Amino acid sequence: MSVRFTAEQRAFQETAQRFAREKLAPHYQAREASGEVDRALVRQMGDLGLIGADLPEEYGGLGQPSLTAGLIIEAIAYGDFNVAYVQLLGSLQGQILARHAAPDLARDWISRIVTGDAIVSVALTEPRGGSDAGNLALAARRDGDRYVLNGEKSSISMADQADASIVFARTGKPEDGPRGVSAFLVPMASKGVTTSRFNDIGSKAVGRGSIFFDDVEVPVTHRLSGEGMGFAQVMQGFDYSRALIGLQCAAAAQASLDETWQYVKERHAFGAPIAQYQGVTFPLAEGETMIAALRQLCYHALDLRDAGTPHTTEAAMCKWLGPKTAVDVIHQCLLTHGHYGWSFDLPHQQRLRDVMGLEIGDGTAQIMKLIIAREKAGRAAVQYAGKQKPD
Ligand SMILES: Cc1cc2nc3c(=O)[nH]c(=O)nc-3n(C[C@H](O)[C@H](O)[C@H](O)COP(=O)(O)OP(=O)(O)OC[C@H]3O[C@@H](n4cnc5c(N)ncnc54)[C@H](O)[C@@H]3O)c2cc1C
Repeated sequence: MSVRFTAEQRAFQETAQRFAREKLAPHYQAREASGEVDRALVRQMGDLGLIGADLPEEYGGLGQPSLTAGLIIEAIAYGDFNVAYVQLLGSLQGQILARHAAPDLARDWISRIVTGDAIVSVALTEPRGGSDAGNLALAARRDGDRYVLNGEKSSISMADQADASIVFARTGKPEDGPRGVSAFLVPMASKGVTTSRFNDIGSKAVGRGSIFFDDVEVPVTHRLSGEGMGFAQVMQGFDYSRALIGLQCAAAAQASLDETWQYVKERHAFGAPIAQYQGVTFPLAEGETMIAALRQLCYHALDLRDAGTPHTTEAAMCKWLGPKTAVDVIHQCLLTHGHYGWSFDLPHQQRLRDVMGLEIGDGTAQIMKLIIAREKAGRAAVQYAGKQKPD
């Protein structure tokens, strides 16, 4: 397993790294205080080709491989973990629209996603649960050439910043389970849509909240894939976001590691820089090793995706290993800064809080391990696999 990058991919990476260094990193903490990702910044990233570079050229994307999108998200997350949600949502939702939306609808939204003029969230979780996602209740009732949506989605990233959401709703009976679920592209400006915001531990610039649907009318043309195909087809896109999330987390941990290596050379104790003490450097060396391994696993999963090879197992591995490893590494970096680390002045505490959210978001470690077990042991042996329901 050895993934090599083309000169073009390196160029995207360098552009994203420069943008992250100059525009993102200096304001990572201020952005948390503002509670939003500035749209002018999003448009600048769009102008540079840093959102949804992997989306099809016919819809305004740059037709790059998924691996390029991975390199971009990694570079952006190094500067600001939360801004990288824009790339994450752009690629995930853009790919879903490209594959499952009617061409006019796909063109309309993807062209705006890539320029930074639109952000599209994904709304799957409901108040009664996220892991058993096939058990959802939000109702979509067919009425002529439209559907009427009623219910609540909960815990949605960028609920109050997004311009549209890909919403999973029940078009069949409750006993139909995942087979009765369809996906819709719902503009947030639709009549009857309202949102709330939660008081979160981290990722405050992204924001998470509920979306309420009160007799929201959605044209049939906004349904993605066939009726009842929300799980069987549309949710397959989550294999992609899981590999990208692994890189997003690896980058945040790498930023803390790089700052900590610098610190241990400057900080003195017992008459010498603390870098002299193996008790200080070995945990950092272990962190470097784990992050390097994580990064390669994510590149490998994206490379499999680009080759058209199944990668559900590898994507689930990235998704549970990434946030957990990053949390462990950033925690160690915080401790290595001694009492300075225990302060809101340094970014480690914010990275720790931000990364921890993705130990839950997009599916927990338990659900990822169920998916891996299902892929390895077979569906018959593992009856239940959370968000990617067996049937
Ligand atoms: C930062 C963040 C961002 C998010 N963004 C979004 C978003 O944009 N869109 C969206 O739709 N959702 C989003 N979510 C919601 C997220 O996907 C759900 O929280 C997640 O799927 C878990 O669902 P739950 O919280 O209802 O936990 P539950 O399903 O109630 O699970 C509770 C606990 O039980 C465990 N568990 C459940 N079933 C099993 C089982 N069979 N075996 C073993 N353990 C099990 C879980 O792992 C978890 O630890 C986000 C959440 C966070 C924290």
